[in-house]
Amino acid sequence: MTMTAAVEAALPKAPFEGRHLIDGIWRGSDNGESFDRTSPSHGILVSRSARAGRAETEAAIGAARKAFDDGRWSRISGKERATLLLKVADLIEANVERMALLETLESGKPISQARGEISGAADLWRYAASLARTMHGDSHNSLGEDMLAMVLKEPIGVVSIITPWNFPFWILSQKLPFALAAGCTCVIKPSEMTPSTTVILGELLLQAGLPVGVVNIVLGFGQPVGALMAEHPDVDMVSFTGSTAVGKAIAAAASVTLKKVALELGGKNPQVVFPDADLESAADAITFGVYFNAGECCNSGSRIIVHEDIADTLVEKVVALSKKVAFGDPLNPETQVGAIISQAHQEKIAGYVKDALAAGARVKLGGAPVSHPGLPGRFFAPTVVTGVTADMAIAREEVFGPVLSVLTFRTLEEAIALTNDAAYGLSAGVWSENVHTCLAFARRAEAGTVWTNTWMDGFPEVAFGGYKQSGQGRENGHYGLEEFLEIKSVVMRVGRTRSNWVRA
Ligand code: NAD
Repeated sequence: MTMTAAVEAALPKAPFEGRHLIDGIWRGSDNGESFDRTSPSHGILVSRSARAGRAETEAAIGAARKAFDDGRWSRISGKERATLLLKVADLIEANVERMALLETLESGKPISQARGEISGAADLWRYAASLARTMHGDSHNSLGEDMLAMVLKEPIGVVSIITPWNFPFWILSQKLPFALAAGCTCVIKPSEMTPSTTVILGELLLQAGLPVGVVNIVLGFGQPVGALMAEHPDVDMVSFTGSTAVGKAIAAAASVTLKKVALELGGKNPQVVFPDADLESAADAITFGVYFNAGECCNSGSRIIVHEDIADTLVEKVVALSKKVAFGDPLNPETQVGAIISQAHQEKIAGYVKDALAAGARVKLGGAPVSHPGLPGRFFAPTVVTGVTADMAIAREEVFGPVLSVLTFRTLEEAIALTNDAAYGLSAGVWSENVHTCLAFARRAEAGTVWTNTWMDGFPEVAFGGYKQSGQGRENGHYGLEEFLEIKSVVMRVGRTRSNWVRA
């Protein structure tokens, strides 16, 4: 399908050229290899990136190690680190348009959401800057007159940061400024599908005056780059967001040197709707929760568990709202849902719907790929599947597409059992006008975040992360800084009061 003249006019005239940032130098790969990213929505070549191998990855780790050990960043004051992070936040804001266009074209997400993601990320940098000045441990003044002890917090060291394609800039900003606030140095590998905004961030870091070698960027694939970043003995910690399968591989690789691992992984997030809920508001939040980012979202509200007395009414409302959601050209500022990241992923989404139908579920809306006039890309129709039971793959696994599964319950106990009947535990939601119902649910749901009468509201101040196979560790809030800190106890004797161990 050919694009309309208006769409073509909005596209960049040449692909973005991505290079590695190693020890402050932009460079290609020794063997000259590169990889291309074609837009999943517009079919054009968006970026061409240098493709790292072992040599570039080792050079980047070596640069980060040297920068950490010589103290150019790890030993300066929190005030100096905060000042730089604030400069970066300003530069991010000044570059929103440039980054949003690349992120939209590489990921297929709507431009309005890419703008929101990048300007919102600037606030994560500001919040992390505020934490850089709060790093402190504790002191023990009651161990006896002759003793004094301090517990110090220190940066953990060199951190490997590995990110996915669905919110490339946001997810990086939930990690990097917190690691930098702590005094760590970093090696970053963005997803091979969305490398370019990370490269632009590298430019902004240098512009802000970050000492060379403190942040290094290598572009490439899980093998060998990501795997080496997870296992290398000079790396002290891995901070990863992505699929649970890769998270497990990273934890295994990191275990060889017992380095710390922080993981933000998948989710199969339920929203439980009780009969006394505000159904208009619940229906809108469910529609938002399942279609936001085309469902390619770890927090996707991909299964609803609704009381059987109101199930038909709620499903009707959600189907009616689904028909009004603006699916289409990601470059149109009115678009709310864009393209699917890859052909293979689109087939995976369709496969889940097909298997659910074969197992006895019903499709109330959508269920298949669609095309949009004037766009060559891949899109999937808004889809609502009812009659889903807890044993079906569509109820248990991450579909990562605009597909809602509807299950029903009769009692609070049943709703909680269905909520917790999952390998994942990232987030959960409850809809009821009764505060006791909400609190009972919130305390018993096995999830890192519980939303009551809302969905996907988040703040830099509020910790985020998963129970069970949704991950380990937390991002954001002061926990986001703590992840990157080691704890050291300094125990001191006051005066010559120590009695000899060796008998005279
Ligand atoms: P992915 O796991 O396929 O890839 C993530 C990153 O890991 C990429 O940079 C990839 O190149 C790299 N990688 C691949 N194999 C590797 C290996 N063996 N060693 C080291 N690195 C390797 O995930 P994806 O498809 O990019 O993203 C989608 C997944 O991310 C979904 O499962 C989603 O739920 C999850 N996710 C979780 C959160 C969260 O905060 N919990 C947020 C966003 C996405």
